[in-house]
Amino acid sequence: MPKGRTRQQRAAQVLKWIDANWIVGRKISVRWVAELLDDDGEEYCGYTDRVGKDLVIVLSKKRLTTIQETTDIVIHEACHAIQWPPSGKAERRRHHHPPSFWALYGEIRDRFDHDHGHEEADAFEW
Ligand SMILES: [Zn+2]
Repeated sequence: MPKGRTRQQRAAQVLKWIDANWIVGRKISVRWVAELLDDDGEEYCGYTDRVGKDLVIVLSKKRLTTIQETTDIVIHEACHAIQWPPSGKAERRRHHHPPSFWALYGEIRDRFDHDHGHEEADAFEW
């Protein structure tokens, strides 16, 4: 499989590479939407949510205009997916980036950027 040439293709490859190496533990998919606006009307890049038993990473086509930006956000959101709490009260605390989040992010980022992760990701289907 060659490296994905579109944001959509590359997002799928990077997510599958992460899931193969760190194990999200639930079915996870990517959904693209035209744009994302928060409660204050500010645009943002993406978020992760649970739909039934599965997780979905929702990404903004408007904000993520390059493969590089898309990759950055997919890695970030995949960390949320891996650390997604069990269903129930714990899930209400969504917007949290504790030190363990950044430790995981750093680990994945380092593997991707400096230890052939970006090449390994090419092997995954779009
Ligand atoms: Zn976050």
